[in-house]
Amino acid sequence: MITAYIGLGSNLGNREDNFKSALRMLTEVADIEVVRVSELIETNPLKQAEQPMYLNAVAEFRTTLSPDDLLKTLNNIETVLGRMRQEKWASRTIDLDILLYGSEVIDSPHLTVPHPQMHLRSFVLEGLATLNGDFEHPVIKESLNRLANRLNGCDFITNPELPQLVSIAGIIGVGKTTLAKKLSTRLGCQMLPEPYDTNPFMPDVYAGKQELALDSQLYFLTARVEQLNNSVLEKGQTYISDYVFDKEPIYSRQTLTPEQLTLYDKIYQSCNTKVVLPVLVIYLLDSPQNCLERIHKRNLPYEQKIELQYLENLDAEYNQLFNDWTTCPVIRIKTSELDYTNDDIIDHLAEQIRYYIAEDSVITSVAKQTKK
Ligand code: ATP
Ligand code: CA
Ligand code: CA
Repeated sequence: MITAYIGLGSNLGNREDNFKSALRMLTEVADIEVVRVSELIETNPLKQAEQPMYLNAVAEFRTTLSPDDLLKTLNNIETVLGRMRQEKWASRTIDLDILLYGSEVIDSPHLTVPHPQMHLRSFVLEGLATLNGDFEHPVIKESLNRLANRLNGCDFITNPELPQLVSIAGIIGVGKTTLAKKLSTRLGCQMLPEPYDTNPFMPDVYAGKQELALDSQLYFLTARVEQLNNSVLEKGQTYISDYVFDKEPIYSRQTLTPEQLTLYDKIYQSCNTKVVLPVLVIYLLDSPQNCLERIHKRNLPYEQKIELQYLENLDAEYNQLFNDWTTCPVIRIKTSELDYTNDDIIDHLAEQIRYYIAEDSVITSVAKQTKK
């Protein structure tokens, strides 16, 4: 007997009756034993916003059917319940997807397991997490609880037509650049380093010249807009930046006067539409105290005036930023869990990035990796 999970979705007819019928038909299959079903949740359609709302749920069951036979059984039930196969993502009376089949990784032309989009869908992961939150996703190798937390209640769709920007975030001294370098080498992609010691105003600002703070923040802003510009980054290409663009206002709020900030916000609003949005953020976490020690150790002259309170303020602002974040999945990593001498840790992170970004060969390359 294998424990499998299926996702149920419906947005046509009496959705609850459709669910009941599908579950009843599943129980009637001799080789399937329905164990439990998550709560039903109502969700917006992923694309085509004019469609009716969906009802979604996840069911756990035990089966002796092979994955292919299970898919055939599910397709039969869909047909009996009046599912019309129109274009992809059309409205449907019932949709039954295989999410997980034990810990198996399957990549055949008509069946991909784990379901290739499940790690991007809160309506799937949250249901799964209530049924078996500690279960490890067989490709990503992280618990379903963790995967659900990464989405902050959102659902995402990958788009290979966009640049695949992965941004590393976290306060000063947390180790973003080191990680970005390691990952870009491991993934063979371009790194976009924050050009930050070229800012001619910054040493003076750190030395207390408040009247240059706006100049300094505008220097940073224009440099980032140039670097992440959507006319510069190429579609489908992977990039790793050692900063997240959205931190700019965080720093400005720390250093600018209210009058300067009003002007800054206007300029920021007019140019943030030009930058590429990240498809994935890696948020590095460490205590402000540890970061301060790292800042002292690396001994960049203009950074030596940084005080603990300043880092604590940044830390609080970053936490707020990612509590409210709806742009893309966020992988949180404690630096205490990042041992750079251990290749497996960087490999694991690199493989996760590959899986989250839009790439045709995503599943194959990860499956290959796990065989080794
Ligand atoms: P999505 O897969 O994004 O949820 P969908 O469920 O609307 O979209 P369908 O039209 O129901 O897509 O399915 C398209 C094809 O996907 C099916 O014919 C099936 O062969 C294939 N497929 C691949 N992997 C799975 C899976 N794990 N579960 C169900 N169908 C799958
Ligand atoms: Ca589906
Ligand atoms: Ca389906």
